[in-house]
Amino acid sequence: MDKITEPHYQSTDVNADLQGRLVLTNEATQTPAIQHNRCYFCGNNRLETINNNLKYCPNCIEFGRVTSDKFFQINQDRGFPKSDNPQVTWDGQLTKQQRQASLEIIDSISQNKDHLLWAVTGAGKTETLFPVIEAVIKAGKRIALAAPRIDVVLELSPRIKAAFAGIQVLTMYGGVEVEYFRAQITVMTTHQLMKFQDGFDLIIIDEVDSFPFVSSEQLEFAVQRALKLNGNLVYLSATPTEKLLKLYKAKKLNTSFLARRFHTRLLPQIKVAYQSDWQTQKDKKKLHGRLKREIEKLEKDHQRFLLFVPTVDMLEPLLKQIHSEFKMRGETVWSGDEKRKEKVILMREGKIDFLITTTILERGVTLPGIDVIIFGADHINFNKNALIQIAGRVGRSLDRPYGLVLAILEVKNRQVVQAIKQINFMNKKAKEMYE
Ligand SMILES: [Zn+2]
Repeated sequence: MDKITEPHYQSTDVNADLQGRLVLTNEATQTPAIQHNRCYFCGNNRLETINNNLKYCPNCIEFGRVTSDKFFQINQDRGFPKSDNPQVTWDGQLTKQQRQASLEIIDSISQNKDHLLWAVTGAGKTETLFPVIEAVIKAGKRIALAAPRIDVVLELSPRIKAAFAGIQVLTMYGGVEVEYFRAQITVMTTHQLMKFQDGFDLIIIDEVDSFPFVSSEQLEFAVQRALKLNGNLVYLSATPTEKLLKLYKAKKLNTSFLARRFHTRLLPQIKVAYQSDWQTQKDKKKLHGRLKREIEKLEKDHQRFLLFVPTVDMLEPLLKQIHSEFKMRGETVWSGDEKRKEKVILMREGKIDFLITTTILERGVTLPGIDVIIFGADHINFNKNALIQIAGRVGRSLDRPYGLVLAILEVKNRQVVQAIKQINFMNKKAKEMYE
């Protein structure tokens, strides 16, 4: 391997760090921070008045106070030198489908088109991006990799740094002051894109369907603004939004598939079972019906599992019922649980047999070798995408690339049917690719 020199910031241009950024300033020659009663930074038009008719925007206060006497300095990013031989340090072998997808993305970028990488969970989408990032670096272009949650950024950032050891990589997320410098690759939470204008030639958005991106017009606006005029977007998702699906179906969005997981097995399909009174289970003294029979089987097989429930009030009653009737030991987790991380670690290390959880664990958690039961899968809190993500928890390891995904419901439900359909669609794609 080539000798790696530490990447460092080299510039004789003192303003280089401002390129592509939105910087608040007092200089009246710049763009007014509040224009037509609207905050230039976040687009909000519900402003508040302080005094002397001075207005400020309460909406984006976490980024600094935007007031009507301030201005934004805007400098388009001017790119990086082209490089035929950048110091790239990733050397893994891509699978056939990963190679194909990365070539297709590079092709889209060369045609100045946006691209969707539709990748099942556990397919190795990050590796697939390496040749794409390499090609963009060679062209002297600047890249942002944005993810919805800090934990995803923290996982992604060291992998990118290791793969591109000769390239400047900056990591940005809310709540932590980092020393900003103009890096060729910036890994950040989606919110951080708000700080840029005309900044990036390529923005890769991970989990584009995930909170907070999916619900926020403001963030979509920020993405468009952070992108250079002739820049491109690459969307990554296991469960694309309806908007992206529509574009894909209308053949208006170039799309590549990673339909197989890294171990080349198919996604486990959701099995359906019925229990007519699952809603009342939490009020009962004992477990009953299909759920009870399934846990009996799991205990007999020493099979560890996740039990998804639709609401927080079901967690404790179900835990008590299972503990009173079975030897298996477990914990409950939900979004407000302060010990959530510790409990997931207990499960990962095999110190407990099961977790009862709300949809909070639908994404991002890899627990090798588990089965999954979704109890009350016809509840409104389980939509199609949540069900597909939950199914994606199963079969993640090479040792056990399969497993049970069981949805227990009262009545046949459209979201469950749609989820099964989409898993079938991806599995059909996977088979086509390997024929
Ligand atoms: Zn604002």
